[in-house]
Amino acid sequence: METDVAGVAQVSETGPVPDNARIDELLEASYARAMPHDEGTVADYIPILAEADPEAFGLCIADVDGGVHEVGDTRAEFSIQSISKAFVYALLCEQVGHERVLGMVGVNNTGLAFNSVIAIELNDGHPMNPMVNAGAIATTALLPGATADDQWRLLHEGLSRFAGRDLQVDGEVYRSESKTNHRNRAIARLLESYGRIERDPEAVVDIYTRQCALRVDARDLAIMAATLADGGVNPLTDEQIVSADVCRDTLAVMAGTGLYERSGEWLFEIGLPGKSGVAGGLTTIAPGKVGIGAYSPRLDAAGNSVRGQVATAYLSRALGLNIFASAPRSSRARHRQGHLT
Ligand code: GLU
Repeated sequence: METDVAGVAQVSETGPVPDNARIDELLEASYARAMPHDEGTVADYIPILAEADPEAFGLCIADVDGGVHEVGDTRAEFSIQSISKAFVYALLCEQVGHERVLGMVGVNNTGLAFNSVIAIELNDGHPMNPMVNAGAIATTALLPGATADDQWRLLHEGLSRFAGRDLQVDGEVYRSESKTNHRNRAIARLLESYGRIERDPEAVVDIYTRQCALRVDARDLAIMAATLADGGVNPLTDEQIVSADVCRDTLAVMAGTGLYERSGEWLFEIGLPGKSGVAGGLTTIAPGKVGIGAYSPRLDAAGNSVRGQVATAYLSRALGLNIFASAPRSSRARHRQGHLT
């Protein structure tokens, strides 16, 4: 995992984020640090994704008080893809509760690719966690609703409320993925064979494909993340979307499984819950503080935005966001009294 944090001091302050001017300064610095990173490749296994502009790069911080800081292509839209998994999981937890979702979907890493079939077989048909396709498809299948349309409505309204605006499905992405998603359909059938999906697997995969095709921009991802950072309240609309307990559960799952097979390295380097998607989006949450949204379509080998990771690693250090960072109490007290610089 390329994080390029050499020379960036780790701020160990676990208190509030700095003032707006300083956030803007650090946002610009993180953008400049990530921009030269032109390694990685744009996803093409869903044919339409290959047409993305590899140079596009947007970065946004939304704080829990409603402040929004943006740099670059923050209004360039792309499909949310796997990032939807985290928010659909939160909606499901809100609807059916912690215990049921834990039993049906799980929270443990598979150590295998996001679209692995063998992971299902190795775990006796258990989908393992909601951030891999098996768990995400099982999650979508569990959404309440008499019909598939009712389930879609709940999902679409829920994700739109997270973003604070009406999100639209990208028809081209939806059609492109629908024609090529044989593997996801196989996963759904396999889950059905294990009794993990009780609805029509084809209809469930169709909803899943549509949720992945919802269009967002980096700013939306920051606001959706800030909602999870603020106990479930969207900082722009002030609407409570999910409970604080659901946020806590969702962030724990994201911390452990949000960056594909690189989730361990991500947590080690950045120390925050996050989720990436194959169209180049990355959303990161600093609980109680800020949400970070990034968009840059060049991906590492696991499917994570290269520039998104570099910029987020910088921000985590420079803004003192890493949830594992602390300094001895005595040195913090001296720092506050001005004895240390
Ligand atoms: N819709 C994509 C799939 O199921 C999501 C992949 C991703 O972003 O990880 O293959």
